[in-house]
Amino acid sequence: MAGMLYLVPTPIGNLFDISARCRKTFEEADFIAAEDTRVTLKLLNFLELKKPLVSYYEHNKLESGPKIVRRIQEGETCVLVSDAGSPAISDPGEDLVRLCAEAGLTVCAIPGPCALVTALSISGLPTGRFCFEGFLSINKKSRQEHLSGLKNERRTMIFYEAPHKLLATLKDMAATFGEDRRVSLCRELTKLHEEVVRTTLGEAVARYTENPPRGEFVVVVEGAQEVPSEELSIEAGAKLVRAEIEKGLSKKDAVKLVAKQTGLPRNALYEAALQDED
Ligand code: SAM
Repeated sequence: MAGMLYLVPTPIGNLFDISARCRKTFEEADFIAAEDTRVTLKLLNFLELKKPLVSYYEHNKLESGPKIVRRIQEGETCVLVSDAGSPAISDPGEDLVRLCAEAGLTVCAIPGPCALVTALSISGLPTGRFCFEGFLSINKKSRQEHLSGLKNERRTMIFYEAPHKLLATLKDMAATFGEDRRVSLCRELTKLHEEVVRTTLGEAVARYTENPPRGEFVVVVEGAQEVPSEELSIEAGAKLVRAEIEKGLSKKDAVKLVAKQTGLPRNALYEAALQDED
């Protein structure tokens, strides 16, 4: 009989956040697939457990993934862990889950620490509707396109970001969403220097220009306010299309982007943009 894959969330800072169920799952597993075996070894030492470890991370997932699937098919139980937090959320675990699902294997996710949920809960921003945007691209153009597509997003938005890229990201966000948009910067969650800065994008840029950011961050950004209805006319939409074309987008991409941002129909925008050319 085939075994199973367990996704075990691990602490994002405070080792005492490991749950009794996670400990039991480690104890009962045949082996652990870890993003960084040294990090996982520290956790196992803290729990006073010993288990065989295999490495499964971004740069070996293509060879390691099928080997893990084969072992589960042969009856072994595998625990997947990432460096910290919930496996498969912004880490290569997502590919192993897909492989197992495609092979018809059972995957069981144990609830527990997750940086995005922890940050959202303490952000002070609306939690009823939110979207998780993960890491923005390091490529400036792709990053700006990603942010432009979120300009009129009404839900609270959650981003992961590395400290050395945070300031550039905040500047791009302030340019796209406006300096007054509220943001919560959730730093070093569950650790000694945990801090939540609830401010605006403009003030956040000033703050981290003066004091370069350190530690791990989740950036939680307030959603857009409702766009006044007069701005939603086709003529106003065509104006936005023109502005995007001037920035370098093709007409097709500009229409697609503005349609996504405003909810206006693509065909009508396209026709209005064509008329503008006459
Ligand atoms: N799978 C993990 C999860 O969802 O909890 C996240 C993995 S992702 C590779 C790592 C990112 O999560 C960091 O760059 C940071 O944005 C965020 N993060 C992880 N631990 C954190 C912490 N203690 N405080 C703030 N952000 C954290």
